[in-house]
Amino acid sequence: MSTQQVISFNYTLRNKAGEVLDQSPEGRPLEFLSGAGQIIEGLEENLLTMETGGSDEVIVRPEKGYGFRDEAQIDTVSIAQLPVDEVKVGDYFQAGQDRHSPVVRVVKVEGDQVTLDANHPLAGEDLVFSVDLVAKRDATEEELAHGHAHSSGGCCGGNGGEGEGGGCGCSH
Ligand code: ZN
Repeated sequence: MSTQQVISFNYTLRNKAGEVLDQSPEGRPLEFLSGAGQIIEGLEENLLTMETGGSDEVIVRPEKGYGFRDEAQIDTVSIAQLPVDEVKVGDYFQAGQDRHSPVVRVVKVEGDQVTLDANHPLAGEDLVFSVDLVAKRDATEEELAHGHAHSSGGCCGGNGGEGEGGGCGCSH
């Protein structure tokens, strides 16, 4: 079956040590369109095999999660090159003006030299997801055309219903 699905699910993400790293807000499951690269591959594969109402624990390895750490993504620059005047270890900021610029994390500060790490914070980690599959259905033609899911709250964050697209205010 190659039809794309719209799946909504609740999740709690823990690391191997059992610490909670992230979770879906109470009563607000995460909804996504399958086959569109919207969630990490290892989790999507598992959700596609689950039935509505099912619960599961899924361990996602880095190759199907956030990838492995890459030392080439670590760079040391002078603080004068940064968009901020003061930094400390653990700070995050965007490495450019563009909103698609990578987010980097400060891992070392030595004098005016700052070491930045552009790896995803969860790169190299095994991710442990506890998931409840809330709903699953075939995507509509409109959702396929837009490349995202449209239920709960309509298109593009809940303002759907009016606008050009005939019921969906989305221009994507
Ligand atoms: Zn849309």
